Amino acid sequence: MGVAGVDGEAEMLKATFLPFISPSHLIPVIEIGRIFAMQGVDVTIITTPANAAVFQSSIDRDSNRGHSIRTHVVKFPQIDGLPEGMESINASTPKDMAPKIYEGLSILEGQFRQLFRDMQPDFIVTDMFYPWSVDAAADLGIPRLIYVGGTYIAHSAMDSLERFAPHTKVDSDDQSFLLPGLPHKLEMTRSQIPDRFKVPNDAYAYQMKIIKESEKRSYGSLFKNFYELEGAYEEHYKTVMGTKSWNMGPVSAWVNQDASDKAERGHAKVEEEKEQGWLTWLDSKKENSVVYVCFGSMNNFPAAQLVEIAHGLEESGHDFIWVVKKIDESQDDGTGAFLEEFEKRVQGSNKGYVIWGWAPQLVILEHPAIGGVVTHCGMNTVLETVDAALPMVTWPLFAEQFFNEKLLVDVLGIGVPVGSKKWSNWNEFGNEIVKREDIAKAIGLLMGGGEENVERRRKVKALSDAAKKAIQPGGSSYNSLKGLIQELKSLKLQKVDRKMEAVA
Ligand code: UDP
Repeated sequence: MGVAGVDGEAEMLKATFLPFISPSHLIPVIEIGRIFAMQGVDVTIITTPANAAVFQSSIDRDSNRGHSIRTHVVKFPQIDGLPEGMESINASTPKDMAPKIYEGLSILEGQFRQLFRDMQPDFIVTDMFYPWSVDAAADLGIPRLIYVGGTYIAHSAMDSLERFAPHTKVDSDDQSFLLPGLPHKLEMTRSQIPDRFKVPNDAYAYQMKIIKESEKRSYGSLFKNFYELEGAYEEHYKTVMGTKSWNMGPVSAWVNQDASDKAERGHAKVEEEKEQGWLTWLDSKKENSVVYVCFGSMNNFPAAQLVEIAHGLEESGHDFIWVVKKIDESQDDGTGAFLEEFEKRVQGSNKGYVIWGWAPQLVILEHPAIGGVVTHCGMNTVLETVDAALPMVTWPLFAEQFFNEKLLVDVLGIGVPVGSKKWSNWNEFGNEIVKREDIAKAIGLLMGGGEENVERRRKVKALSDAAKKAIQPGGSSYNSLKGLIQELKSLKLQKVDRKMEAVA
């Protein structure tokens, strides 16, 4: 399927992109860069070697397609105690290594600034975690567009928490409260909201304050969403933040249109043999009969939770694909053997297929045998699942995922909650173990028959259709991008005019 470009309008524009170093921020920012390049913008992406390895093949393919896009690789600094090549914050990153990776990034700041000066872009697109880049852009007299990640509903809900502090007016962590001032009546509990709203002098709260200030001073924000998904929250967000924003989504559907783009996306290499394994297995299954279970790129469940998931999947009686991180031998308390036994058992009964490590999610989601998804509500996965017209079991864990669950369950009516009650910090999952019976029950509701299920499928199909239209000429995201490119072009022309006036 071809998606038309915003022809010729941006041929003079030159952009530099600086993505963050965790997959869920890196992947969409690269995809936004690829979308700009599809429209004739000259795009250079600055990153480090291990992060480049995650997406370089897609850049090479785009370049071979004639798009003006490239990667500029910067060596990651040597940091005491940080193994060479550990440059990304993901499920395999030991918690004590994250501060060292941040240290490396802050050492690179000077080099990044110099590259902006040398490359002389017309605008920069940088991740929210580089708040300093708003000043770097101001020094160069060019716009900075910020990638803030997440959803409009999450940003709106967090703004409501900051503004009205409803969580301070309840007696216990489990008592629900209403999020004031939002387009819908959304209820949450204190245990479901991030620590930074609850813990005094929280370091992340301070970091987020700086990020929010830099967002307000940026030219505007880029979102990977599309208007039809959460338009009411987009309007709300723009009003309360007083900033501009543009939707580019669903970004993954826009750029990953051929098989190799889909298969290799977000990962250096796909194991050929394993890929064939799941494909052959899925091909043998009936339409809409398999549930896909995956918790994103950052997940590290404790053994007790993995055991509950395994039993829950079996108890549900439905066929499944489960993506599980291989247990590190040095930390294995016997769970590795349990999971291997489980894999053998479900292979024997032909009820399930285990993918160890990384799954080619985009390809799996579009297989006709997949009928539903169990997700932690990471927004990349949510958008990909909506695009594939699949309903979800919602199992939020960390970051803004509990707010995303509200969107899926309460606003859009396309999610079945597993009953997740406690927000956790990344890599500290395990304070709350979701029980096998709750997992089996939610999957039963998702995959079973009944009117509610039919209604969920009808709603998600309508959203999927809207997602596909959004990126076509005349669609909401297409028009959003077209408008932004026009704006950036006229800013560039104004700058050229001012220079000429100064010379005359
Ligand atoms: N992903 C994938 N295969 C995996 C795990 C994740 O392709 O085995 C991709 C997934 O398609 C999504 C991203 O990684 O694009 C994960 O982002 P998300 O926002 O869903 O979750 P996070 O990683 O931030 O927790």
